[in-house]
Amino acid sequence: MRGLGSRGRFRRSADGLCGVGRRQRCAHRPQAGSRAPRRAAAPRNDDSPDRKAPGHVTEEHRLGRRAATAEPTADVVVLGGGLAGLTCALQILRARPHTEVVIVERAHFPLPEAAHKVGESTVEASAHYFETVLGLRDHLKSAQLRKEGLRFFGPHEGNEDIVPRLEVGFSHALPTWTYQLDRGRFENELADRVRAAGATLLQGTHVEDVELGDEEHRVVLRDSPHTGVRGRWLVDATGRRGLLKQKLGLRETVDHDVNAVWFRIGRRIDLEHFPDADPARTDAEARKTWLARVEGNRWQSTNHLMGPGYWTWLIPLASGSTSVGIVADARMVPFRTINRFERALAWLHEHEPQVARDVAGSRDLLQDFHVLRHFAHGCTRVFSADRWCLTGEAGVFLDPLYSPGSDFIASANSYITDLVVRELDGEDVGRRADSYDQAYLASFEGALPTWRQQYALMGNAQVFAAKVVWDTLAYFGVNSLLFTSGAALDLPFMESLGEPWQRHRRVAHRIQGFLREWAEVDEGVVDAMSFVDLSAPLYHRLNVEILAADAPDALRDRFHEHFRALERVAVELMRGAALRQGVALRAQDIDPLTFDLGAELRKVPQDVRGERRTTRLVGVELAEEWHGDAPRARARPPAPCAGTDNNVIDGP
Ligand SMILES: Cc1cc2nc3c(=O)[nH]c(=O)nc-3n(C[C@H](O)[C@H](O)[C@H](O)COP(=O)(O)OP(=O)(O)OC[C@H]3O[C@@H](n4cnc5c(N)ncnc54)[C@H](O)[C@@H]3O)c2cc1C
Repeated sequence: MRGLGSRGRFRRSADGLCGVGRRQRCAHRPQAGSRAPRRAAAPRNDDSPDRKAPGHVTEEHRLGRRAATAEPTADVVVLGGGLAGLTCALQILRARPHTEVVIVERAHFPLPEAAHKVGESTVEASAHYFETVLGLRDHLKSAQLRKEGLRFFGPHEGNEDIVPRLEVGFSHALPTWTYQLDRGRFENELADRVRAAGATLLQGTHVEDVELGDEEHRVVLRDSPHTGVRGRWLVDATGRRGLLKQKLGLRETVDHDVNAVWFRIGRRIDLEHFPDADPARTDAEARKTWLARVEGNRWQSTNHLMGPGYWTWLIPLASGSTSVGIVADARMVPFRTINRFERALAWLHEHEPQVARDVAGSRDLLQDFHVLRHFAHGCTRVFSADRWCLTGEAGVFLDPLYSPGSDFIASANSYITDLVVRELDGEDVGRRADSYDQAYLASFEGALPTWRQQYALMGNAQVFAAKVVWDTLAYFGVNSLLFTSGAALDLPFMESLGEPWQRHRRVAHRIQGFLREWAEVDEGVVDAMSFVDLSAPLYHRLNVEILAADAPDALRDRFHEHFRALERVAVELMRGAALRQGVALRAQDIDPLTFDLGAELRKVPQDVRGERRTTRLVGVELAEEWHGDAPRARARPPAPCAGTDNNVIDGP
């Protein structure tokens, strides 16, 4: 880059800027090419907010002191100050407090509460990231809502009554906390924290363009006293705008055509007390049993009301509103039937009448309405040795079912923080950037089968229940543990997991195909009021172990044990699928990688099978059978993660 005028650097000195040019390196910075001792971006296990004395000089004031042509320089420029950008900045500053970070965000703070963005439901890995890695536990516990897990309701006779619908969810809260986020409130808090930690937040400022350079990159600004800002590192967190992805042609199409619409209603929607609950439809005893089988509040869960090709979410927010969304496979639910509020409401009347009637009764409290078409997208590269990275939806995104968006942010930000800190401290991170890029994109590729082509299963109560059983156990036992234990960032450790890890990945892939084959031969009929309790012993145990703090050898053993447990689950699901069709198989005869349900059924004459067929729900006993078995299998109880009180169950 040439011909630029005088430049300043963003520094946290009394006047906000110290004016040191890029070539006048500060004393604390190693010279280019020098090697400083390795300094890992280790997560900090404490709650203390990174608050410094609140400054009375705003970023705009600081910038206003410079000539309009001055282009300040920072170590890291983050494009977009949404969830991914703000958390990335905070993580870098917690790992390396003297780093100069500038965030460019087009919106103005404070943001509105409730009606801001989607991405409101967290799961175990992202909750750990926000609580512990970013030190936000105090905010989460005092200003957000504790989540009562994910909860799913299958279809039942027109969905006029919630009580008889198949339910898959917690009967009581599990030890590892998760939260429902009011995104406006959360991003306001993050903005305060990044500023208190020393970042410069340029709000109301547009990123127009990016020019990549050898020594530093340039970000072209609009609505700013400066024409641009320069950074050694660039982090693109512009969300669906995907600035860098577009500029560099990195976008990859993903074969997953799913659309979403959502809105917020300014009051709580409580499905235990849908206003139209009709005593004539449900007998009082059944309703009492249904209410009693769950200890906590169902409304605090992320509730999913499922049907063929769609799910509807209900997410409560701490600000008092409820977020309502419809996510649907475009082939099964045409977008034009839901893409306006009136149409979405009419669609709900037809498919989820209880939600529709509840919402219709509060139309005056409607706060917003949004639509998003074909949101799945991939990317050919997210981390580059040329010191640019993509995080959040600016990188990859597949599907919101199971709320994985924030997990991907946590993972990308952790890779980015590690690269940035190492490089700024003098390490050559070229090869590491390539390895992290491959590892992150491989985790995305590995996750695709969980969602792709699976929307048809949502209308099949039995098969979808089995899917949730598998996906939940695999998430607790492997995917979340990979993040919380730090294993995902430790590539030699991942190598050391060896063949059992490769086999687990193949089984995890295979099971999704098996579920589709199962749905072809099983209509999914289950008894009214069936319940799969996701807090049964195996779930509980794996959930506790998400936060276990293990030395590498013990962690490797733990993963291997989880792979074995999950393989048993896969076998039991396959055995159960055959049993429902009247074919009894022995567990030892099933290899989940080669199991062929159709072939097994063809071995038994149809009339014989017909007599033995059952509607027994597969997936209920599965996790119960570990009762008492688990302690014998584990000589050593899981150690709680140092510095957290996350194994304690109490109120929010
Ligand atoms: C239907 C749906 C439901 C979802 N539900 C969940 C969920 O329950 N849980 C979950 O974890 N995830 C969920 N997600 C994913 C969730 O949206 C993401 O995890 C998260 O919001 C992405 O954050 P982000 O920072 O990448 O994007 P954003 O939060 O959108 O931030 C991008 C920021 O960049 C700024 N920006 C863009 N362009 C420019 C520019 N040129 N100049 C300056 N600033 C710019 C924007 O103003 C914005 O603030 C869902 C996604 C969808 C589509």
